[in-house]
Amino acid sequence: MLPAHPDNAVPPPTPKAPFGGRWVLVTGASSGLGRAIAIELSAQGAHVVLCGRDETRLAETATALGSATYRVLPLDLSNHAELVPAVQRIRADVGPLYGLCHAAGVVQTRPLASTGVDVVRAQMDVNVFAGLELARAVCRRDVMDASGGSLLFLSSVYGRAGMAGLVGYSATKGALVAAVRALAVELARRNIRANCLSPGLVMTAMTEQSLGLLSAAHVEHLKSAHPLGPGLPTDVAHAAAFLLSPLSRWITGTDLPVDGGYTAQ
Ligand code: NAP
Repeated sequence: MLPAHPDNAVPPPTPKAPFGGRWVLVTGASSGLGRAIAIELSAQGAHVVLCGRDETRLAETATALGSATYRVLPLDLSNHAELVPAVQRIRADVGPLYGLCHAAGVVQTRPLASTGVDVVRAQMDVNVFAGLELARAVCRRDVMDASGGSLLFLSSVYGRAGMAGLVGYSATKGALVAAVRALAVELARRNIRANCLSPGLVMTAMTEQSLGLLSAAHVEHLKSAHPLGPGLPTDVAHAAAFLLSPLSRWITGTDLPVDGGYTAQ
């Protein structure tokens, strides 16, 4: 009998807390998907930096973490000049960072005729520019853990599938998918991975705002366009935790649809 190839040895069980106390900065942690992701990361052993504008809702997220280790970082992400100094303050406080999850985002639903440069730029400012500036801050050699790290950006099914009224928003989400490919290639030599996750319809404050502009029939149509139906914030959070954690150590430069089959059609 041939000796077992070492790669065929019985693998160790998957750790229940794969983050092992690594620090992850989560934007959008005051609401919806970012909040659910922060809670899930914490449950999987991460220490989390909760970033958002609304301090009351950030405190609610912190309460939901129970006895976990966290910091709160109130920030307006459209003030780009504040982002690098804010990350450096966090680094000085907690030590090296391992991850960034950019879940903060804004959407303006408008026809092309009223989608001027200012409308596109306002969405770019938060969805794209803030995410890339935070990545720049987190990936500095004096900030990120020397063994590497993981960056995750929340894109959207509308980064790859069209929808009337979302020209500006879709441009921001497609930009993230393109940017992670370049980040993945550039940062691989430092063992830093970069990925996107593209949710379909999940009920949050953002979707309530967007769906509120549509007729009941249109909302029903959107829901039924998801073969598995609309998702829950935890559906996104579980996938986000995997892509951020060391369990996905060989995955980089991807965009994972988490959309109940919306883009499979
Ligand atoms: P949400 O509930 O509206 O939350 C948006 C978050 O972004 C809030 O925490 C908000 O913080 C933060 N944010 C917005 N502008 C900010 C700014 N200038 N500075 C700092 N923080 C800012 O939205 P969500 O549904 O959870 O969406 C999260 C991400 O998933 C977004 O990127 C969105 O595009 C994407 N996404 C969502 C869906 C969905 O169905 N829900 C689908 C596809 C993609 P404050 O409230 O504290 O200001």
